[in-house]
Amino acid sequence: MKKSIHIILFLLFLTISNAHSQKKVIKTDAEWKQQLTEKQYFVLRQKGTEYAFSGEYDKHYKTGTYYCAGCNTPLFTSTTKFDSGTGWPSFDNHINNNVAFLIDKKYGMVRTEIICNVCEGHLGHMFKDGPKETTGKRYCVNSASLLFNKK
Ligand SMILES: [Zn+2]
Repeated sequence: MKKSIHIILFLLFLTISNAHSQKKVIKTDAEWKQQLTEKQYFVLRQKGTEYAFSGEYDKHYKTGTYYCAGCNTPLFTSTTKFDSGTGWPSFDNHINNNVAFLIDKKYGMVRTEIICNVCEGHLGHMFKDGPKETTGKRYCVNSASLLFNKK
């Protein structure tokens, strides 16, 4: 009886430690400033937003993967990208566990902020007005937070 409780506790411990095993990339502000371009730093580290229709991936539909410009974690695939007409690259889903969600109450709105789960860089926001035939979600992402790589 006691033994089985120990086994259960051990399995529980494994589950919890696995859930937290994703390695984080943590850098100082000075290190980020040195590594990133001005635009990338503004978006990723200062939660800035690039102008609509200004980003290089807005009308970009090549096959491949979009990586975090801060830490190179794969965040979105081209198969989930769609033309939302908003002027920002839009996706209807993210790559498992690599995007995290925060509540953003800035500017008198309640929005869902999306960040890279590894370096916590700001990516954009997630809205619920995406394509109904897939997830119904629209990940509105700044091009400056992404780097594309062909498959
Ligand atoms: Zn990142």
